[in-house]
Amino acid sequence: MYIHVPFCRQKCPYCSFYSFPPQRGDFDRFLQAVCAHLHLLAQEPLVQALQFDTIFFGGGTPSLLPPTYISQILHTCRSTLHCAAVAEISIEVNPGTIDAFSLCTLQQAGCNRLSLGVQSFLDQELKQLGRVHSAQDAVTAVLEARRAGFNNISLDLMYGLPGQRLANWRLSLEQALSLAPEHLSLYELTPEEPSPLYQDLACAALTLPHEDEVLAMMDSTAQLIADSSLVRYEISNYARPGHICRHNINYWQNGSYLGLGPGAVSALQGRRYRIPPGLARYQRLACTQTTPWLAEEQLDVEQSFRESVVMGLRMLKGVSAGALSARYQLDLFSYYGTVLDRLLSQGLLCWQGERLALTEQGLPLANQVMAELV
Ligand code: SF4
Repeated sequence: MYIHVPFCRQKCPYCSFYSFPPQRGDFDRFLQAVCAHLHLLAQEPLVQALQFDTIFFGGGTPSLLPPTYISQILHTCRSTLHCAAVAEISIEVNPGTIDAFSLCTLQQAGCNRLSLGVQSFLDQELKQLGRVHSAQDAVTAVLEARRAGFNNISLDLMYGLPGQRLANWRLSLEQALSLAPEHLSLYELTPEEPSPLYQDLACAALTLPHEDEVLAMMDSTAQLIADSSLVRYEISNYARPGHICRHNINYWQNGSYLGLGPGAVSALQGRRYRIPPGLARYQRLACTQTTPWLAEEQLDVEQSFRESVVMGLRMLKGVSAGALSARYQLDLFSYYGTVLDRLLSQGLLCWQGERLALTEQGLPLANQVMAELV
C-alpha cells in the first residue's frame, strides 16, 4: 500500500512530484479523507482479497504530518484491511521537518523503516537544491532516529547536481557511509519539465556536470560501496543483507499495489487506477462513499510483459524467463528476437542461468537498454 502525502513546506526547484504547501485545515482534511477511503476500500471484494505486506508513506513530505495522524492512519489500515503481522512500514522523512519526539511517536505507531531525503551533505548544494534542511540536520535526524529505536534507515542522495565535482560527491557519500545506514538510494539528478531547474538548465543559467564527470562519480560510488557492508541490488539502491526495500521490490516485480491519497495510482489485477491531484476533490468523494478513482486503464498482455521486463531489469538479479513465461505465456527470447541478440552480443545484457540481467557494462547504460525493450 502506498499513501501519498501531498504536502511540502516549499517546492524544491528540481521536483515534479505532486505536492504543495499545506493550508490551515489541510492535515485534518487529508486524515479524514484517507481514513474514509480505507473504509470504502474495505468494502471492495478486490481489496478484501489482498494482504498488505508493506505500507509506504511517500510524498511530498510525510514527516510534515503530525505523527499522531500517521498513527491514526495506520490504526485504520489495520482495522479495515488485512495487513501482514510483520509488514514493512516505511515513511519518507525530510530532515528539516522532524524531531526526537516525532521520531519516537512514529516508531511507537509501528513505522519500522525510515527513508531520509538527505540529497547532499554539503550545505551549498542543499541550498541550490532548495532543500529546507542543512547537512547537520540530516546527521542529527539519523542519530535521533537510532535513539528512537529505528534499525532500518535509508538515506537518499543525488549526484550529477549542477556544478557538482567528483570530490564533492565523494564527500557526501563518505559522510552517508560514516552514519552506517542499512540502505542507500543514490539517484542521478534528472531534471524534468516543467520544473524551474529544467528551465534554468534550458537557458544555460546552470549547467550539469559533463558526462565523463558523472561516470567518474559512478565509478567512485562503486569503489566506496565495495568497502562498506552495503550490496547493490538495484540500479540506484544498496542495502545491507536483510534490508532491501520490500515495498520497491514489489514495484520492480510489477506486482499489485494499492495507492491512497490525491495523485496516487493503484495497480490491481492488470488494471491501473488513478486518483487525480486535488485534496478537496479527494476528500469530497471519499467522505461521500464515492470511489475517488478516476479511470481504469487495462494494460494489454504484451504491454504488461514489456513493463515487467524493463522494471525487472532494474534489479541486479534481473528477470526470470520461466516466471515471465508462466505469467504471460510469452517467451523472452523469441519476443525480442534480434534486439535481444544484439544487446547480448554488445555485452550490455547477459544470461545468469535462466535469468536475464544487465551486465556491469550495461548498468551505466540502463536507460538506453530499457528504451530498446520497452
Ligand atoms: S521535499 Fe521532495 S517532494 Fe517536496 S518538493 Fe522537495 S523533492 Fe519534491
